[in-house]
Amino acid sequence: NKDTVNRKKAASHAQYKPEKWMFLDQEQGSLSQLNLAIVGHVDSGKSTLSGRLLHLLGRISKREMHKYEKEANEMGKGSFAYAWAMDESSEERERGITMTVAVAYFDSKKYRIVLLDSPGHKDFVPNMISGATQADAAILVVDASIGSFEAGMDGNGVGQTREHAQLIRSFGVEQIIVAVNKLDVVGYSKERFDFIKLHLSSFLHSCGFKDSSVTWIPISAVENQNLVKASSDVRLSGWYQGLCLLDVIDSLQPPLRDVSKPLILPICDVIKSQSMGQVAACGKLETGAIQNGSKVLVMPSGDLAMVRSIERDSSRCSVARAGDNVAVSLQGIDSGLVMPGGVLCYPDFPVPVATRLELKIIILDIASPILIGSQVEFHIYHAKEAARVVKILSLLDQKTGKVSRVAPRILKAKQNAVIEVALDRAVCVEEYSKCRALGRAFLRSLGSTIAVGVVTRVIE
Ligand code: GDP
Repeated sequence: NKDTVNRKKAASHAQYKPEKWMFLDQEQGSLSQLNLAIVGHVDSGKSTLSGRLLHLLGRISKREMHKYEKEANEMGKGSFAYAWAMDESSEERERGITMTVAVAYFDSKKYRIVLLDSPGHKDFVPNMISGATQADAAILVVDASIGSFEAGMDGNGVGQTREHAQLIRSFGVEQIIVAVNKLDVVGYSKERFDFIKLHLSSFLHSCGFKDSSVTWIPISAVENQNLVKASSDVRLSGWYQGLCLLDVIDSLQPPLRDVSKPLILPICDVIKSQSMGQVAACGKLETGAIQNGSKVLVMPSGDLAMVRSIERDSSRCSVARAGDNVAVSLQGIDSGLVMPGGVLCYPDFPVPVATRLELKIIILDIASPILIGSQVEFHIYHAKEAARVVKILSLLDQKTGKVSRVAPRILKAKQNAVIEVALDRAVCVEEYSKCRALGRAFLRSLGSTIAVGVVTRVIE
């Protein structure tokens, strides 16, 4: 059967030989790309901060952005990207919240930054997941004003500071900048900054962030303090002499770029032009490389297509490599077969497709227990599928990770467990030990994330 063939082929990564063009330096002296997600509680100031950074550093002029917006609209994808970047954008104001994962670009001294803004509204956590999946590092924006920081830390499922921090860590993001924003509201109080740092740092620690990979920075996005240069307000510069946000971004470690493995490009977004029948798949290359003319397989449907052109940072390029965030325009394929949640890969190395999986999960703060038969929403990279818990195999000890109980009947908050899920439709997945990008999963139910985990076995 087709799937068995696929799995056999997928298991033969060892035979894969990358070609020369994949490694050649495309643009001498160009900056390397860093995908930076901005996450945090609703109203913490993510859009304001992104808008500010773009305004101060972005290479895209307002006129150009209007043009992009117009093009995006013509392509039938008005909500895509750019629009939010203008702080005077009336469209964003009217809509009130950023809908999709917005993408924007600016340069720091060391990096070409791709900024992934994600909506803080509770209903849009799945979009936030999409942003986090592509991130090499994240800025966690925290609202310092009295009561707001506390709301973001609420343990009852509404505190998105907590939820976002847990999610990005479980997606493998290790480096995080905590931007303590709106300090102007509290008179740039060092005491408030220290209070937030004290309370949040132990939580971040419990999520698995190493103290050495977390940088704390006091800012005001509205008053432009400490963003791209040292603060001009003595109430802040009086006690803070550390790096400004831009320099902190430059101090991040560059991510690993693995071009020696076959292509994996999880599709985050699809842009279609109805009139011309063209289709572009957007997302970050997890591994491998592509160039114009490359043949790719569009999974899970398994149809072939050819790369017509590649766009990166809103300009054309001929080659894209692991780590690059791109829009790949495809030809020779019915645009209906290219869907967000799919994956582009090499024809000889298709990613596995499955409907039944074993997962090792950590259960979050849930109100009602997970049972055999529980219906959940299964999320993996950008794919989302209805699923059912079909088995609860074991409970694991939180410290040792060893089986502490076999076949428990229910699962409660904060427990670690191994379960089996059955999906309504097939998605591209791989065991986490073989491929991190396709092996990290989330379970959601009734609008909140109930568990995070990894795929330990692809059953069928
Ligand atoms: P998002 O939901 O996280 O994207 O938050 P927004 O960027 O939409 O900001 C929410 C509100 O907080 C807006 O009214 C902003 O003007 C305000 N805001 C953002 N940053 C600051 C800041 O540094 N200081 C103050 N005083 N207000 C801010």
